[in-house]
Amino acid sequence: MKMLIVEDEAGIRESISDYLRREGYICEEAADYRTADEKVELYAYDLIILDITLPDGNGLDVLRNLKKRRPETGVLIVSAKNALDDKITGLDLGADDYLTKPFHLPELNARVKALLRRRISQGNPTIVFEEIEVDPMNNVIQVNGSPVELSKKEYDLLLYFITNKNRVLTKAAIAEHLWGDYMDLADNFDLVYSHVKNLRKKIVQSGGQDYIRTVYGMGYKFTGQ
Ligand code: CA
Repeated sequence: MKMLIVEDEAGIRESISDYLRREGYICEEAADYRTADEKVELYAYDLIILDITLPDGNGLDVLRNLKKRRPETGVLIVSAKNALDDKITGLDLGADDYLTKPFHLPELNARVKALLRRRISQGNPTIVFEEIEVDPMNNVIQVNGSPVELSKKEYDLLLYFITNKNRVLTKAAIAEHLWGDYMDLADNFDLVYSHVKNLRKKIVQSGGQDYIRTVYGMGYKFTGQ
């Protein structure tokens, strides 16, 4: 799961990032409107934690642009206590939830988890693809009802495949999803290859079918056909 934290107050931004990284998320940061807007144009995120008042613009404009480009992204607005209008406008524009500052990080984490769960499984407690079942609340994968031990990256990869089933995912998109925007892509392609190989092996060893198709020259597709 990859997130972007948009917040101009460095202390708040860093403490949110640190906390969520410890929870196992990939976190990127934007300290101003321009950076945030650039990032949502260039990269895909599962969730954006969005401050409204930024030094060079309004977080609601980031949200407007995001919803035009990548409407599937989750958005959690964090705003000042007296900014009721901003919250309402934000929700009207398609934000999923909001949190009033100041807040406790465990509260933020609980909202983030709930929001991602709603987005990924559309309200169902687990995501099922044929004999594979994912419980995103507890990070557990089962094949034919038996748990499979996956590394964090393998788990993230499988969840990414299942939530994008029947779509070709380029190696670049997979690398970006697993490691964020900053890694050298050439190295990442080898890593993507090894993670796909290991994931395949573990699913098949647990009695599952191999649903990962290699799309020559492009990437991979997770499909039952
Ligand atoms: Ca602010």
